[in-house]
Amino acid sequence: MTLKDRIRTLLADVFAGHRMTEEEAVALLGVQDRRVWEIAAAADELRELRAGEAVTFVLNQNLHITNVCKNLCGFCGFGRKATDPDAYLLGKDGVQEQARHAAERGVTEVCFLSGVHPAFTTESYEEMIGWVREILPDVDIHSCSPEEVLFAAKRSGISTVEVLERLRAAGIGTLQGTAAEILVDGVRDVICPRKVRTADWVRIILEAHRMGIRSSGTIMYGHIETAADRARHLGILRKIQDETRGFTELVTLPYIHQNTPLYRAGIARAGPTGREDILLIAVARLFLDNFPNIQASWGKVGTKMAQACLLAGANDLGGTMFADAVTVCAGAGDADYLDPAEMRRIAEDIGRPLVQRTTSYGRV
Ligand code: SF4
Repeated sequence: MTLKDRIRTLLADVFAGHRMTEEEAVALLGVQDRRVWEIAAAADELRELRAGEAVTFVLNQNLHITNVCKNLCGFCGFGRKATDPDAYLLGKDGVQEQARHAAERGVTEVCFLSGVHPAFTTESYEEMIGWVREILPDVDIHSCSPEEVLFAAKRSGISTVEVLERLRAAGIGTLQGTAAEILVDGVRDVICPRKVRTADWVRIILEAHRMGIRSSGTIMYGHIETAADRARHLGILRKIQDETRGFTELVTLPYIHQNTPLYRAGIARAGPTGREDILLIAVARLFLDNFPNIQASWGKVGTKMAQACLLAGANDLGGTMFADAVTVCAGAGDADYLDPAEMRRIAEDIGRPLVQRTTSYGRV
């Protein structure tokens, strides 16, 4: 069978209910010619069936509390040592000032986007969530990745389940599915050796979901990983979702390389290409048959590519953000804020309505 026939047969099988294997995902991720558009078109059709016509977004704001980080991952341009001249750690006043801006903007979600400060404990997270809750009693506080939960547990000498219970009592809404990067330890050894291992990431996400705390799922791609690593990562997320249905979405995060140690050292490549961005979205849509929502990250791919991703299987544009120092520090200049009016222009230009959603994909 020719490659063309193999792809056509596979896409037809997926529409007939076949659950794609990781090997098949690898084959699709490797396609380099015009068949990219066939895969994207099939994924777009599935998007229509599973998620409908709406292009969704959330009115949210990132809160940057500290850039001091114990991990100093090679793919990150944001984290600092505590002794660096531009290191910062906000206290209550600084956090609440940002929260007040968020309140004025009418956001429904705030995300903690910060380093993992070596002095943080479970109590630190409880305190920070409490500061935000005082100003924003009704928003979804989207906070704490499995990495932060694990670190807080170690620092406080308690289990990760206890940390999750305390975070919930403090007012966390949903857990961040970040720190996943690529859930293959061989890759993690190179790009983030100090971060939570795959098994712990999976365990903590399962613990959260089983407690009824939902989370995002993420993938950070385009550095040193292979297509097989990407497929393995998607396979892990799909298996978790089979059990819990706790993932709200897949957030696709292309590696922003410019100001990061891994790229400067010649270890990582210069982020994914446009072909890879399109195929990652499309294959995620085809492979993740239990994820209704696939997000294109406009801050990372830019608004034009984000629109192309909406024609390749994505149904969500993510948040307005109002600040994203993590992406800006890594080298993407325009990642700070996207006006919903521009999102509407992008959506309506492809004949789809823009709809504001909550963190858990309820309608606002
Ligand atoms: S990616 Fe996150 S954990 Fe890693 S250095 Fe940056 S802020 Fe720290």
